[in-house]
Amino acid sequence: MNVIAELRVPPLYRGDRQAACPVCGQFDELTLIIDSEDASETPAFMRCDDGHQWAEPAVPRRIGAGLFALRLRDHPELIDWSAVQDG
Ligand SMILES: [Zn+2]
Repeated sequence: MNVIAELRVPPLYRGDRQAACPVCGQFDELTLIIDSEDASETPAFMRCDDGHQWAEPAVPRRIGAGLFALRLRDHPELIDWSAVQDG
């Protein structure tokens, strides 16, 4: 099943680039918007606490799909299912 979920993530890096909000600069406790079936290199969407949303080049979508699979296995109670939609 294709699942869209939102996950709070610790600071994420790729090389020397850190995932951060391009508007307010928030980098910790960002929300990663995950498509469980999308393991591509396309920049993933992220959102900060101020509601800014952007495509983050430091975080390819496969990272989100991997994080989601791990979380689903280890801590399914931490997944915010309120954001889940049938794809
Ligand atoms: Zn922001």
